[in-house]
Amino acid sequence: MTNVPAIAQERSLRTDLPGPASRELTARKNAAVARGVGTTMPVFADQADRGILRDVDGNCFVDLGAGIAVTSVGAAAPRVVAAVRDQLEHFTHTCFMVTPYEGYVAVCEKLNELTPGEFEKKSALFSSGAEAVENAVKVARAYTRRPAVVVLDHAYHGRTNLTMAMTGKVVPYKDGFGPFSPEVYRVPGSYPLRDGLSGEQAAARTIEQITRMVGPSNTACVVIEPIQGEGGFIVPADGFLPAVARWCSDNDVVFVADEIQTGFARTGAWFASQLFGIVPDVVTTAKGMAGGLPLSAVTGRADIMDAAGVSGLGGTYGGNPLACAAALAAIETYEADGLVERAQAIGEVLMTRLRAATESDPRIGDVRGRGAMVAMELVDPGTGDPDAPLANQVAGLARSRGVITLTCGTYGNVLRFLPPLTIDDTLLADGVDTVLAALTETGSAL
Ligand SMILES: *Cc1c(COP(=O)(O)O)cnc(C)c1O
Repeated sequence: MTNVPAIAQERSLRTDLPGPASRELTARKNAAVARGVGTTMPVFADQADRGILRDVDGNCFVDLGAGIAVTSVGAAAPRVVAAVRDQLEHFTHTCFMVTPYEGYVAVCEKLNELTPGEFEKKSALFSSGAEAVENAVKVARAYTRRPAVVVLDHAYHGRTNLTMAMTGKVVPYKDGFGPFSPEVYRVPGSYPLRDGLSGEQAAARTIEQITRMVGPSNTACVVIEPIQGEGGFIVPADGFLPAVARWCSDNDVVFVADEIQTGFARTGAWFASQLFGIVPDVVTTAKGMAGGLPLSAVTGRADIMDAAGVSGLGGTYGGNPLACAAALAAIETYEADGLVERAQAIGEVLMTRLRAATESDPRIGDVRGRGAMVAMELVDPGTGDPDAPLANQVAGLARSRGVITLTCGTYGNVLRFLPPLTIDDTLLADGVDTVLAALTETGSAL
């Protein structure tokens, strides 16, 4: 395996942003691509490796987004590239439902082994995160023979019809796209900065609402992101998740952990559930699993997973052979290169720098996260109200300086840090310091 990055690991801007080649492509995009498909960055990608993404004008950006927590092993991880190349020489597709192949089975074996829980597990593979969530609901309904799906405030589960119903935020995700799938019920979760509740208190409120509004005998599953992603990197108070999981188990309700964003080493553990001491019945995974290739999975207790009838689950592309080869190579990379530990070390760098900034800047209302999934919530220092314009201003300024910076949160006021786990320390520090400098400057401009 070559250890030399394909691009120098240094931030450098050669043109004004966007440069001429990106401007030309943007004009073509605006004419050809539906308006609803928005983009964060004003530039087009040419090459990416580890902590750097180079655009078509030769500008090199520090990547603090990893394509939304996907390229945790990097966007050109040597093992992934080699494995996909090798699979490409054999075949691109047969359809697992027609002529199966080993890679699919090997990925399922690996998922059954890596996900939390000592019981017998089975898995099924799909292409997108939303599809995994839909299929988790399918197996939970087939197993319990109950209709209702319970989700939390601030949840994000995808953009298909069922997962739009499960996603909390209307604008932009659901705006104009209803009506949505029935039998989806939303209850409050745990958001320590804003609800001030302990984990036990928040769980009592959640459980009381499920019991009163839905009733356990109607509830197929409770679907929870252990750390909420798009909703604002919300880390629940200690004790919240175990109490809800225990209630599910006591009431034969399937507890589904949506680990699509938190899974695969991102939070400094293989799965965030492990950080909170919970063992979900079913886990959904996608983003970080396959080094950038489209692959998602549902993994769970064998009896739950086997509740769906033969041919009740599947899809033409689910578990595509190139994506399976990529996943096996990505998993080998997480293991061989110690990326779970690396995520913890990245978390320490991020937390130290962001917490130090909090001391001198009251607009930073909260710094939170686990491992390499860290966020800073910006607020009005007087009232504590969310300050989305400030978050957008800081993110925009950081991007113009060559750092890919993402925002999130129901209120749009959260700056989130999701670097590839293969970024080096110098580049990571440069990226975070550039964002913090943008924040300081925005202060003086107000
Ligand atoms: C991204 C995400 C999804 C949806 O995944 P897609 O691949 O975009 O369909 C679902 N759940 C969580 C927690 C996510 O972060």
